[in-house]
Amino acid sequence: MPYFFLMAGFSLLSFGDDISFWLSKVAANFCIALGFALVVLSLHQIRHAPLIYPLVVFSCLPLALAALIYYSVIEPSTNARVVVISVYVTLCTVSSAIVVNKSQVEDLKLPIMLLTGVLVIHSLFMLFRIWCTLREPNIGDFLHAGNVHQLAIIMTAILLSTLGFTYNWILNARLMESLYSSSLKDSLTQLYNRRAMNEMTSRELTRSLRHKHALSVIILDIDHFKQVNDVYGHQVGDRVLHNLGEILINNLRAHDVAFRYGGEEFLIMLPDTAINDACTAAEKLKVLIESHTFWKQQEKPLTASFGVAQLHPNDQRTNLIERADKALYHAKEQGRNTVCKGEFEGTVSA
Ligand code: GH3
Ligand code: MG
Ligand code: MG
Repeated sequence: MPYFFLMAGFSLLSFGDDISFWLSKVAANFCIALGFALVVLSLHQIRHAPLIYPLVVFSCLPLALAALIYYSVIEPSTNARVVVISVYVTLCTVSSAIVVNKSQVEDLKLPIMLLTGVLVIHSLFMLFRIWCTLREPNIGDFLHAGNVHQLAIIMTAILLSTLGFTYNWILNARLMESLYSSSLKDSLTQLYNRRAMNEMTSRELTRSLRHKHALSVIILDIDHFKQVNDVYGHQVGDRVLHNLGEILINNLRAHDVAFRYGGEEFLIMLPDTAINDACTAAEKLKVLIESHTFWKQQEKPLTASFGVAQLHPNDQRTNLIERADKALYHAKEQGRNTVCKGEFEGTVSA
């Protein structure tokens, strides 16, 4: 849309005195002003920036139109019209530069810097143009005006190409980012998937071994989950998994990471955590799950069993997970709703 009005504005301007002055002066400049206001609006939409900036530029638009009509009909002056449109364009480009940078959305730094740079240069150029126009004798026919006015058209063309280029750059980067994150996340629980688990646990394991830091894992398995599906249906089963994902996301420490390990099994990685603290975290989750109401007609508590293991100096990733898995198996054997430590360390609670 901004492109349409800017093109229409510059085209009408190029007809000069061959068409009525309402079209070649008032409508042409108004289209250019509207085009720049739409640039602010589109940047606000793409960057989710505060609405105040497009509101300001759109509320100044009638003023610009009134001034254009005044300097075309009542006191005709090309210089005054050039000053009016340049002031308005400067307002829009400065607002655009602020909008681009006042955003909550994390985008790539490079296109943002490029766009800001071009907007600032355009604004400075427009101020220079205003200064030149105020000192210039009567311009007369705009089509034969000085270099600074021809340069204004080239500067606007550069700004428009930069806008198109950076829009594409930003949107493509966002698309790639969302594809990457959806390839690592499980859509039902919003937790990381098994692929992410393999990558992230390997990285953390290497880091912990190198720095001799403790690392523990918890494997959690919902008790008798098949019955939930069989009695209440798969939709309820899915809701349980989704809610359990929320419980994990909301109740783990910031650097603990939860993964969907399998159907109704979850793995939690706890960096810088020794086995006893990991068991305490598992106990807390056990109580939270037991006391949570997952669906309306839930008659008895839903419970989960936990296997906990700590990284040993000679461990591979598979050994660590295997020990947590064995501990989970013991927890199931001991009647479920239980936390068990890996490798001969006994039951922590029952
Ligand atoms: P246990 O206490 O021994 O763990 O018993 P269980 O019934 O929880 O274990 P079992 O391995 O027999 O059953 C797991 C069930 O989890 C079977 C499967 O249909 C269900 N399940 C796995 N993934 C999903 C899912 O994405 N959605 C739903 N609704 N059910 C799932
Ligand atoms: Mg299972
Ligand atoms: Mg189960």
